[in-house]
Amino acid sequence: MDSLPDPNPRPLTAEGASPAIAQWFAAKAGHPDALLFFRMGDFFELFFADAEAAAEALDIALTYRGEHQGQKIPMCGVPAHSHESYLARLIRRGFRVAICEQMETPEEAKRRKAPAVRREVVRLVTPGTVTEETLLEAARPAWLLALAPVEERLGAAWLDLSTGAFETEALARADLHALLARLEPSEVLAPAALGLAGAVETAVPRDATRRVAEAYGVSTLEGFGEYHPAEIAAAAMALDYLKTTQKGAQSGALAHLSRPVPRGSQGVLQMDAATRRSLEILRAERGGSRDCLLGAVDRCVTAAGSRLLAARLACPLADGDPIRARHDAVAALLAAPALRGAIRAVLKGTPDMARALARLSLDRFAPRDLAAIRDGLTRATTIAEALGHPEGQAAIPPLLARSAAALRPEPDPAPELARALAESLPARLDDAGIIAPGYDGQLDALRRLRDDARGAIAALQLDLCQAWGVAALKIRHHQQFGYLAELPAAAGEKLLRDAPPKATGDFAPIHRQTMANGVRFTCAALAGLDRRLSEAADEASRRERLITRHLRTLCLGAAAGIAGAAEALAEIDMQAASAELAADGGWCRPEMTERPDFAITGGRHPVVAAALARSRAGAFVPNDCDLSAGQRICLLTGPNMAGKSTFLRQNALFVVLAQAGLFVPAERARIGVTDRLFSRVGASDDLAGGRSTFMVEMAETAAILNLAGPRSLVVLDEVGRGTATWDGLAIAWAVLEALHDRTRCRTIFATHFHELTALAGKLPELSLATMRVREWRGEVVFLHSVAPGTAERSWGLHVAKLAGVPRAVLARAGQVLASLEERARGLDPLSDELPLFARPSAAPAPSPEHPALAALAALDPDRLSPREAQEMIYHLRTLMDGAVNRA
Ligand code: ADP
Ligand code: MG
Repeated sequence: MDSLPDPNPRPLTAEGASPAIAQWFAAKAGHPDALLFFRMGDFFELFFADAEAAAEALDIALTYRGEHQGQKIPMCGVPAHSHESYLARLIRRGFRVAICEQMETPEEAKRRKAPAVRREVVRLVTPGTVTEETLLEAARPAWLLALAPVEERLGAAWLDLSTGAFETEALARADLHALLARLEPSEVLAPAALGLAGAVETAVPRDATRRVAEAYGVSTLEGFGEYHPAEIAAAAMALDYLKTTQKGAQSGALAHLSRPVPRGSQGVLQMDAATRRSLEILRAERGGSRDCLLGAVDRCVTAAGSRLLAARLACPLADGDPIRARHDAVAALLAAPALRGAIRAVLKGTPDMARALARLSLDRFAPRDLAAIRDGLTRATTIAEALGHPEGQAAIPPLLARSAAALRPEPDPAPELARALAESLPARLDDAGIIAPGYDGQLDALRRLRDDARGAIAALQLDLCQAWGVAALKIRHHQQFGYLAELPAAAGEKLLRDAPPKATGDFAPIHRQTMANGVRFTCAALAGLDRRLSEAADEASRRERLITRHLRTLCLGAAAGIAGAAEALAEIDMQAASAELAADGGWCRPEMTERPDFAITGGRHPVVAAALARSRAGAFVPNDCDLSAGQRICLLTGPNMAGKSTFLRQNALFVVLAQAGLFVPAERARIGVTDRLFSRVGASDDLAGGRSTFMVEMAETAAILNLAGPRSLVVLDEVGRGTATWDGLAIAWAVLEALHDRTRCRTIFATHFHELTALAGKLPELSLATMRVREWRGEVVFLHSVAPGTAERSWGLHVAKLAGVPRAVLARAGQVLASLEERARGLDPLSDELPLFARPSAAPAPSPEHPALAALAALDPDRLSPREAQEMIYHLRTLMDGAVNRA
């Protein structure tokens, strides 16, 4: 019988380890939570538990090697030259990886009489600090976010190491979730006290200002901007993390990193996580990448343009002037189709300079990254020239002019790179052929020497044929032995037995190897040539590496200008793409006002309309919406499937698009600049969070009542649907009143409760709208158009029929409905005599308000446990009942 495994294996120690394994233990001790990629020659090896985890995650063979403390050592490995793809898979699976490199050659170690080559962890690869193309999403930023609670604020600093972007903000702690939803960071650093699941536990540093100043080599941060101490603390955390993860990076490693730019939450449209989810801005809950707003509106031709667009849609502005400046840029490019076409043609295929620069500065670059800078800057110049001759006489708007100016950086390394780089580049830095002939005289000379030696080999082959009397002699290169003369078997045997008289001296054959079909020889002349040749090749590749380093330095010296040009290209791509989109779809420039306007004519849902067009399932029906003063609240009724949710979302999306700086899919749009946007459309059970639909709905409604104001826009879908009819109606009723009287925000409120339409007579700013449907031969036909008024009936049974509910059930439901309607006749629960209308007063606060409302308003949803929340609902309900009874 096999012995059972030890249930409590003793932790492994380095005791008695071989020299290499002892090194492994030392490196692992510094990075216990990372898989250790341990370089051994051409492979990265993993040992012990790391090997077991990686073999499983990568689906590669687990083997054993040697013994440690009486146990076989589990091991697996990946080839060093292709380790990136394995890294990518591990990072995506949530692992962190420490790269332990060999810091010297085995010869150097031998010379030092060291038992093993020196190894060091040179880099910690984590989801928020990757820079390799294969590990990044081209069109999405990869944020590393640091969070530092200081005093009453929460400092946030986020940076994208792959492009150098770096920003900070000091927020109220309650806004953390909105920030996480906005950035979708790849990795979060936070102190344990914040209790953020998945975050890398990091302490808030004490001397943050000094650390940040040191990282940028300045003595004070005054020139950088105004920061809250919490912002600096977070920035220091992020920078410290880079220092630990990017140890191996050489001088200039962070040359591409921008200084931390304080954002201030002023000037940004506030949207919480629920709103972003409901509007499907950067990704759709279901469906592919086209089914979200970004997917539907992205016409960018470069990855950097798409990244900028994603960032803008995730973070629209809330100040009129910068929004109008962006619209000016789109309008100018819309009015200049030829210029736009020319610019987009040049932009297409422009390499990602920002990411290439990041890899150069982190010293993790390939020859193509140098080419990316050369080609990117060359194309930037072409575009700057095009923008210098705008179509027509109109001057280009300031935003584009500023970008155009940044397209010609000073100094400009492009001409030098153009001269230096070979036409077709090898993939790896170690390969020969990066530098073009004619750029460096010394390199050319070394290469000539190397190539001459090749010619000499050919000449020597002729000489040896004569000297050895073998016509079929061939000189071939072998990985292991260098150059050898190969003879057919018979000729080889003969040469071994009796060599001809000329085969002496430098030409005396030296036997190397006998194979089935031939014999290999060398001789003094061949060996000498071989040596000269490999020396020349070595010398040439050393020289080439030196020049490549020089080109890197050249680029880093121009880093700020290159980064600026890359940013400008992204901006121009984004603006031209927005203009293209507007031209294609007949989108209009929204008029942005400082009043709480919202008037849309012929509006379309950008995603649903595009999907309909693709599937040819019919045309999207455009709809108007007017929430301007006097009719701020629109109460929308209509049966299921009539298009209510689509209408709600499309109007909320207009705010996102307009304030991100894009045009909108409508004939005309006038939008008052919005400070906060709330969208509650579509049920989303927070099952993981342990909250029911209704619970979630109430918490989210409470957030709106607490935070929305007169400059906000709210779209609410079927509030109160998740509970018993009367509860639901009561809550919907109270919420609607509160939005009308207290919050005073622009609102579209979709509901199944037709009873609510009775409020129209009571709330002066409430207008009624309904989705039109038509009955045709007993079937319901959805017209998808919004009309004034109220739905006549709910068509629930028709929709049930469409959905395939069995006929017998439908028939029975018809009977029940008829009897319910009979009973309800003469009982109008919402007539003026009934107590629900005894609402406090139509005047805004401070009039005494309904106790249920006061309770709702006082809610802080973020602080409620599920149990407390449920109790709150019961409490609300008694308050409602109490109010009804009292009146
Ligand atoms: P509701 O919320 O009223 O149940 P939805 O907004 O979910 O209805 O819309 C149901 C379906 O109707 C959508 O999937 C969409 O395909 C279609 N639809 C909605 N609005 C329009 C429109 N304006 N034009 C054409 N089709 C529409
Ligand atoms: Mg709906």
